[in-house]
Amino acid sequence: MKRSMILVILILFSAQAYPNDWTRTARIADVDFWPDFTQEEIKEGIDLAHQQGASVVMAWLTSENIDIPQKDLDALKRAVTYAHENYPDMKVIVYTAPLEIITENVDTNRDGQLDRGLTAVSTEHPEWLQVGLDGRRAVFYGDFEHWIGEHDEDVWCCPNDSVYKEKIEKSITRLAETGIDGIWIDVVLFLCNYGDWDSNWACHCEDCRKKFHQDTWLEIPQSVTWDTTWKTWVLWRQTCVEDFIEELSQTARNVNPEIKIIVEHWHGFDAESTENAWSPLTLQPVTDVLAHEYVSASQYLETYTPANYLRDVALFQFYRGSDNSHPSWILAYSLREDGQKMLAATVLQAGCNFYDTVYPDMVDSVSLKERTRIFEWIRKYSDYYYEVEPVSNVTVYYSKATIDFYDCLSGDWEFYREFVGVSMMLLSLHVPYTVITNLKNLEQFDTVILPDLVCLSDFEKDLLQQFLENGGYILSTGKIGYYDEMGRKRASRELPHHSRFYSTDRLFGNEYYAEVNPFFWPDEGKNQGTGEDVKEEFYRVLNQIPFMDVETTAPGNVVVLPFLFKNTIVYRVLNFEGISPGDAVPDIQTISITNKRRILNAVLIPFLSTPENLEGEDSVTFRVQNHCLLVLEVEPVSIYCNEYDLPAAENLATFLRTRGIPAQVVTSPDDASVLIILGGHKAKDTGEFVSNLLTDEQKTQLEQPGFQTLFIFQTVRLIIVIAGNEREDTARSTEENKRKIFELITESVNSKIQFNLQ
Ligand SMILES: [Zn+2]
Repeated sequence: MKRSMILVILILFSAQAYPNDWTRTARIADVDFWPDFTQEEIKEGIDLAHQQGASVVMAWLTSENIDIPQKDLDALKRAVTYAHENYPDMKVIVYTAPLEIITENVDTNRDGQLDRGLTAVSTEHPEWLQVGLDGRRAVFYGDFEHWIGEHDEDVWCCPNDSVYKEKIEKSITRLAETGIDGIWIDVVLFLCNYGDWDSNWACHCEDCRKKFHQDTWLEIPQSVTWDTTWKTWVLWRQTCVEDFIEELSQTARNVNPEIKIIVEHWHGFDAESTENAWSPLTLQPVTDVLAHEYVSASQYLETYTPANYLRDVALFQFYRGSDNSHPSWILAYSLREDGQKMLAATVLQAGCNFYDTVYPDMVDSVSLKERTRIFEWIRKYSDYYYEVEPVSNVTVYYSKATIDFYDCLSGDWEFYREFVGVSMMLLSLHVPYTVITNLKNLEQFDTVILPDLVCLSDFEKDLLQQFLENGGYILSTGKIGYYDEMGRKRASRELPHHSRFYSTDRLFGNEYYAEVNPFFWPDEGKNQGTGEDVKEEFYRVLNQIPFMDVETTAPGNVVVLPFLFKNTIVYRVLNFEGISPGDAVPDIQTISITNKRRILNAVLIPFLSTPENLEGEDSVTFRVQNHCLLVLEVEPVSIYCNEYDLPAAENLATFLRTRGIPAQVVTSPDDASVLIILGGHKAKDTGEFVSNLLTDEQKTQLEQPGFQTLFIFQTVRLIIVIAGNEREDTARSTEENKRKIFELITESVNSKIQFNLQ
């Protein structure tokens, strides 16, 4: 969350292939910088960060919000200028915490009050402070959090106070004027549980009362009723946080349109995100990057367990889904070299960006030597993490409405556990999946998994119905549709209906979660089962619907995820088998992976080591210590078409690529071993080639109105002609036959995919 108030500091740097999109490939660390540093010291810090391979370095100032001293800004400007002049690929960002103000040494006798005769923000500007449900203002004393000193005052301001907001905007403007590349914004939230506050939902200040009434015509609620007014207020708080961040972004962009806004939040996947109005889903649209602060298995020696590392991958996968087209920066901590390495490997496994630091601050490193090795390795292979397309035909839906109006209200986090439990089982079963946070774009998936989707809106139901009618499959667990999107109980449940809709009341994810019992803190229950029985039963249910798994001998504690990078299949492998409390060094595993397309060339890239070539036609066998990349070059499928059929060809290419078949659209027939041609013998461009393939009888067939079909020629190579009488018929035939084409290409007798073929 925040670094402690000691005068240490920061860092940064690096060299990138994508200078305009530096957030995507960021390797983040602090830079040794402090506003009273000499020019020589500033240089030294930045040079060092560059040597360590950081591409983004974080700097701190003496004030994190208002009244930033001019000498801080001058020093920051010198650091940024030096970095840009000497290391064009290094970006410098600065930490801010706009709503929290700490005043040091004002409660020397620790009686929880200001010392007599002193003033602080709480007495000078009480109107700035957030107000809890019980009417108390948000002022706290003492070191109940690691970033607050024992004699300090800690106050939290309200984003709806216009005077305070204006001051913050001034600070943001001045920061942007230093030429800084990005502003890191932390703790923009409304308090709820904090210090001696327990469910004391803020904010009830005068500004909030007025604004809520203005915006909704409702009176601000006085107690936790979970009636419609309360729920409206819960959502309204989230909007206030979004609007505040959006205004700060605009303020910064008015100075520098290229500046990036990085917003940090805590966890965000459970009901705490509702309590603090701090959901990654609502923050995503108003930020360039979200930095997810997360308690990983590497944070304590006691939490080193396979189940905890499996949960970490599941939650990092969630962040990748909720961040969508944005990168996912992970701010997580380790204590020792073994944990540092496993943390970096886990973050990379999901395609997130690694911030190297040591628990509990955001500065320094467990090992600068290891940091340098890790960053150097990421720099070399970053394409395989940040430039790939996921391969999966399964998606898992995360429902924010269910978190807000079911989990938060009930307090037992049933949806959260179902979502995480199902995700962990899929990873352990080697079924790759994508997380989605809305149901609007389902076309590329064959199967949607709905874990305990309790709060289902009519709109969502319609989208799911449409997906089923278009050929999709749904697997639902738990209490789907008991409530609507505002958490109002439905008189009667109206669910999507279709023979491809499979539903079970059983909460498989909760059962698994209870069995394996992942824990974040050392003092939590440590009894962890294997969850094997539940997983097996879940697998049987899963087998009723189509899904693609990775064909591998890897055990459940080795996660294998496939991606596509140009014409290569990239398997990311993470091994945590054999890890135990106090020992985060996994047992080496020997595993095999069988690929869907014949392998032309195979390269294994072990984490922090050098690449080696592997032998194998369809499958490869290799050893993995903690993490590795397996890069398989395969021949792409060619799709030949004219300009009219191009949209249909591109759709088909995307469909195949999503399923791990590299496919390219070509404008002349090539020698590919799989050639797909769109259009019949009369089509522009492609017609001449097709005419030589078809018999007279086939040509006559094709000339019938509305006719569409596939012609399959299997000789030394496979040629598939998708043809119709009219262009629309060709497009329809492509859409209707894409699953059959996929099967023809893979000829995967072992495939679990069985579609209703035409
Ligand atoms: Zn307020």
